[in-house]
Amino acid sequence: MVRFARCNSLLSLALDASGKGCRYVAKGASDDDVVKDMSEHLTTVHQVAGDMKANILASTKTNNG
Ligand SMILES: [Zn+2]
Repeated sequence: MVRFARCNSLLSLALDASGKGCRYVAKGASDDDVVKDMSEHLTTVHQVAGDMKANILASTKTNNG
C-alpha cells in the first residue's frame, strides 16, 4: 500500500522548473514519508515557504492498486 500526494492538487496551477504544469507525485509508505518528500519538492521547485504539512496531509491518498 502506497501513500501519495499530487503537487497539482496542492498548488493549483503549479508550474514545474520548465514552466509546464507540475505532475510531481510524492510517494511513501507512510504519511510522514509523503510529507517529507513533498515538502522538499515544494521548497526546491516552487520556492514555497512555511509549513505545508497540513495541506499535504489533506491531499494525501492511498493507492491500493
Ligand atoms: Zn510541483
